[in-house]
Amino acid sequence: MKTLMALVVVAAVLFPASLMAIPAKPALEVVVLGSGGPRAFGRGGSSFIVEVDGTPRILLDAGPGAFLRIGELNLDVGKVDTVLLTHLHIDHTGDLAAFFNERALTSDGPISYRIFGPDGAGLFPKTSRFVDLLVGKDGAFAYQKTFGADESFAVRDLDIRLDSPRTKIVDENGLVVEEIATHHGDCPSVAYRISYKGVALVFSGDMDASALPNLVQLAKNADLLIFNCAVLDPPASPPQLYDLHTPPKKIGEAAQASGARRLLLSHLAPDVEGQEAAVRRSIRASYPGPVAFASDKLRVPVGN
Ligand SMILES: [Zn+2]
Repeated sequence: MKTLMALVVVAAVLFPASLMAIPAKPALEVVVLGSGGPRAFGRGGSSFIVEVDGTPRILLDAGPGAFLRIGELNLDVGKVDTVLLTHLHIDHTGDLAAFFNERALTSDGPISYRIFGPDGAGLFPKTSRFVDLLVGKDGAFAYQKTFGADESFAVRDLDIRLDSPRTKIVDENGLVVEEIATHHGDCPSVAYRISYKGVALVFSGDMDASALPNLVQLAKNADLLIFNCAVLDPPASPPQLYDLHTPPKKIGEAAQASGARRLLLSHLAPDVEGQEAAVRRSIRASYPGPVAFASDKLRVPVGN
């Protein structure tokens, strides 16, 4: 016993705590803030934080509940400078203003956001106008600019034509974000790929099956594909929902075609949650990799 104690003392002297047994931070880590959609049944609306080398840097969608989960997880969002919006439905953006509010009150310096989201069409404003309508000079929450840290917003509206090319929108110190247009009924939508230190993760956002070729291209050999799973295979969900969402069988085929190594299903609806075994079977018919169902506050490391 004495010998053991002596060894511990010697080790502590030779290898100070700063050098001993510090677990490596994964290159990327996804924190699920909201794993649900527009229905209130205990899951937050769609939202994720992406940590880069252990630091929260990217907010992907900001559905209702994101604000609450950030607090529950005690996440330090002081370095979040990039916001990626897949589309502008309420279940993906309802907490965006609340996020700006929280970030401004906890920052000790000016904040420069870069925000990306789809161009506008029909009932949906382009993302730059959406941000203006929230916190711009004549926006509903114009007061936000006077509340806490100074903020500036650089907003880029992304091409929503399905034949527009996959585009790199961030390339900074090894962190790369790419996007491609998808299709979500009448709502302009895009998907994102985040790469860092040789690993990549992809967010489908909400999309119907008509945009799967784009998604498969974006998700090529990704380490993690997060696919929004809001419907059951036909005919088990209301027919109009298939114009908005991709059913499990096609999610499995897309995951297989992309070569994605892991699949995480999110944006879960009550009937999908209740049919987990059937959804897994349907995906398993074509995709052999690991499949998991998201839950709020789940952490998924990607890479070492
Ligand atoms: Zn949604």
